[in-house]
Amino acid sequence: MFIGHFGLGFGAKKAASNISLGTLFIAVQFLDLLWPVLLLLDIEHAVIKSGTGHSQPIDFTDYPVSHSLVMVIVWALLFGSVYWIIKKNIKAAVILGLCVISHWVLDLIVHLPDLPLYPGSGSPKFGFELWNSFWGTLLVEGGIFITGLVLYMRSTNAKNNQGKIGLWILVGLLLVSHTANLFGPPPPSMNAVAWAGNLQWLFVILAYWVDHNRSVV
Ligand SMILES: [Zn+2]
Repeated sequence: MFIGHFGLGFGAKKAASNISLGTLFIAVQFLDLLWPVLLLLDIEHAVIKSGTGHSQPIDFTDYPVSHSLVMVIVWALLFGSVYWIIKKNIKAAVILGLCVISHWVLDLIVHLPDLPLYPGSGSPKFGFELWNSFWGTLLVEGGIFITGLVLYMRSTNAKNNQGKIGLWILVGLLLVSHTANLFGPPPPSMNAVAWAGNLQWLFVILAYWVDHNRSVV
């Protein structure tokens, strides 16, 4: 799942208009922002499947710190708590915690059964395997993205050209990355995947900039 997560981040603005889109993006993508770092540190592992013709070329062999449900709840509590300490807004803190958890729920729909409940080799693993259906994945993920984007556009107005054009640059870059993931060649190595994963911070920075140049309706 890629743009589906960002779609949820866009849509969450309607529920919590005082949270910047950038912060919402960090929350919904928190697990996937953590994951490339843990890969590079050799704490979590994944391999590239070869020759399966699968639209999802990565085998997530173990990622208990970033993607086990128990740890996800810990990250959600931490994320919400830090936001509450800084901003003293309990509603926004709860929404951000839920955004962190939403990542696991959306991943659960598409992933093969590789999402653990808790860290440790004994944990059962879950995934409803929507990735096996190319069109099913595209429909669900695209649907979440478009719905979220429409909600964001209805909840905010561009203050200036940066708020207007910036939003379309952000949307365009997300769609280009998603298309490259779907139709591009399989990645050359997991190291390349991890470094590319860190580039997602660009979307976060862009989102802060766009949101700063839009006002809440
Ligand atoms: Zn994920």
